[in-house]
Amino acid sequence: MTPATPLLILFIPFLLFFPACTDANTDDSSAAPVFISNEKPYKHIIQETVIIDSQEYIIPASWQGQRLGVKALTKPPLVQVPPEFVKDGGTIYLLPEACEAFKTMAEEAKQNDIAITIDSGYRSAWYQKKIYKRLMEKGKSFEEVARYVAPPGYSEHMLGLAVDFHPSDWRFVDSPVYPWLKKHAEGFGFSETYPESSPDNKPWEPSHWRYHSPSPLISE
Ligand SMILES: [Zn+2]
Repeated sequence: MTPATPLLILFIPFLLFFPACTDANTDDSSAAPVFISNEKPYKHIIQETVIIDSQEYIIPASWQGQRLGVKALTKPPLVQVPPEFVKDGGTIYLLPEACEAFKTMAEEAKQNDIAITIDSGYRSAWYQKKIYKRLMEKGKSFEEVARYVAPPGYSEHMLGLAVDFHPSDWRFVDSPVYPWLKKHAEGFGFSETYPESSPDNKPWEPSHWRYHSPSPLISE
C-alpha cells in the first residue's frame, strides 16, 4: 500500500457520486426524436422601467428602446470645461474631444461677438435621478417629468458629449446664440438633438446639443 492509498479509498465514494464532467454519450439511437419549434414558448412584452426612490416606473413609450448603454464616466476621461464658457464660471465636465470641440466653437463665436456659455454638461444617471426626485417632490408625476426630462439612463448628458446652452429654457430660441449655432455648430461637430420637429415627436429642446464622436469609450 502506497502512502496515497488510504486517501484514494476515502475518495472513491465521492468519485462514484460526483463524477467528473465529461461529454455525454449522444450516440443513443433509442432516444425519442426531439422536435424543435421556432415558436418561443413564452412571448414577453418587455417593458423598460426605472427605479427612483425604491419605486418602479414604466418608461413612457416615447423613450422605450432608447436606453443608453454607457459605462459611468469618471475623471479622467472627463475634463473640465473652461469656466469662461460656463454660466457663472461653474464646474462642468465633458469628454476631452467634446470639450475641445466646444471650446473651439465658443472661441470662434466670441470672434463674432457671440458669447456662448453652457448650463450643463456631463450628468450621471444618478444625478438624473436626483433631478427627477426634486421635481417629483414638488408635486409633478413621473410621466409629467418624463415629458421634458430624459429618464435616468436615457439622457445624452451621461455620454459626456451633450451640453445645455445658457439659458437652457425657451428664452434660448430668442438669444443670438441659437441662430449662430444653427448656422455654424455642425461645422464643429455639434447638432441639435431635439429640434423643432423631430421624427419621434420629442418636445423641442433648443438649448440641448450633442457632439458626435466616434470615441471607443462610448457604447450606445
Ligand atoms: Zn440637455
